Amino acid sequence: MDGLKPVERGRAAAEETLCIVDTTAIVVGDRGDPKVWRGSLSVVEGRVRFGGDSRRLGHGVRRIDGKGLVVLPGWVNGHTHLYSALARGLLTGGAPPVSFLEILEGLWWKLDRALERDAVRLSGLVGSLEALHSGCTLLFDHHSSPTCIEGSLDLLAEAALKVGLRGSFCYEVSDRDGPAAAEAGIAENLRFAEASSKDTRLLPMFGLHASFTLSDRTLHRCVEAAADAGVGCQIHAAEDQADQEDCTEKHGCRVVERLERAGVLGRRALLAHGVHLAPRELDLLARSGTVLVHNPRSNMNNGVGAAVLKRLGERGVAVCLGTDGMSGHVGEELVVGGLLQRHQRARSYAGYGEIMEAIWAGNHELARRVVPEWRGLAEGAEADLVLLRYDSPTPLESYNVVGHLMFGLAAAPVHSVLVGGKLVLDEGVATGVNEREIRAEARETAARLWSRIK
Ligand SMILES: [Zn+2]
Repeated sequence: MDGLKPVERGRAAAEETLCIVDTTAIVVGDRGDPKVWRGSLSVVEGRVRFGGDSRRLGHGVRRIDGKGLVVLPGWVNGHTHLYSALARGLLTGGAPPVSFLEILEGLWWKLDRALERDAVRLSGLVGSLEALHSGCTLLFDHHSSPTCIEGSLDLLAEAALKVGLRGSFCYEVSDRDGPAAAEAGIAENLRFAEASSKDTRLLPMFGLHASFTLSDRTLHRCVEAAADAGVGCQIHAAEDQADQEDCTEKHGCRVVERLERAGVLGRRALLAHGVHLAPRELDLLARSGTVLVHNPRSNMNNGVGAAVLKRLGERGVAVCLGTDGMSGHVGEELVVGGLLQRHQRARSYAGYGEIMEAIWAGNHELARRVVPEWRGLAEGAEADLVLLRYDSPTPLESYNVVGHLMFGLAAAPVHSVLVGGKLVLDEGVATGVNEREIRAEARETAARLWSRIK
């Protein structure tokens, strides 16, 4: 393949730090179709080099036997909520929620109000570890903790960095907890954008909750503040029909039209969901270059419907995938998302092309927009990689790699993960933190958190 030049065999470069020897497959390319390449892969000064010595490695070079391992670019999660990591198994009591608003009011808004510093910190660690173990190397987080706003993004960012991930963090500003909380949310976004500007692993955005919890005044304050800080906005949009109904009633227009008039849209903006969008709203997204983050498992879990990716693609909307806090596993989102498109359109041949376009071109394009030097799995690129245990029982080649991803590879067990050339998950063990201690502390913190939820 073009650009894949093996290094000289028989002599490891002095600066080489790691060599994955004789892999089962390396899935390359960050735009369009993924392709299979075979051979060894070295990490030299944190960057990818195709090839490497299979027997004689330089002193101090880590050797990983690549047989039965497939190397992929690290997954990029376009939208998630690390704070949901301590919600697993939580029972809130009372009547089960029926509508989307009842789910928010009965579960998520109770949970986020009960988050204090320890719970934010532990959710960041637990959520980051879960992402790491699923092969994610870059995540876009959207945070809310109305009684612990100032400094909350630092707690999450420090957690992600300790675990070894790159991350984008923002605080979802909303009027639902009153004007003081809205102002504190704006201030936290600005403070973090400034504080994180020198660390290339951190990528600030400006968070907004959703149209239906934002007054015009707060929305405009946020857009102005984001522009002043030079960061893009991340907001939930048309996740449920209720968002559109609220917008039409209060503002006389549809959600994306409101966001476009306010100045939210643009190439640096992320809109999560977009389940209920009219054609003219899709055109606004396409014209502005706004990225729409599709979260299939979350949409199924909340029973809100699902975007039809074919329709979005035909209108020219840039789409990527996120997990929306369901878990950290972007590969599972790919598998379920493909099935959902087929189920929704009742067509056995539908969906896989669109979902692959979303994850392989969309998520990589999203990474490129915020990390200009991000190049995926390519010669000379920073080594953000996942090694999957996948001893394929059938031929694995470029022509059928999508079939392998959908029916096995994307959800295969994770062996190791590199971020910036550093092994942050080494044969299933996180190298930066003590996972057992974190999980034990998280269980105690979660129990206290749950006891505060009324
Ligand atoms: Zn979300």
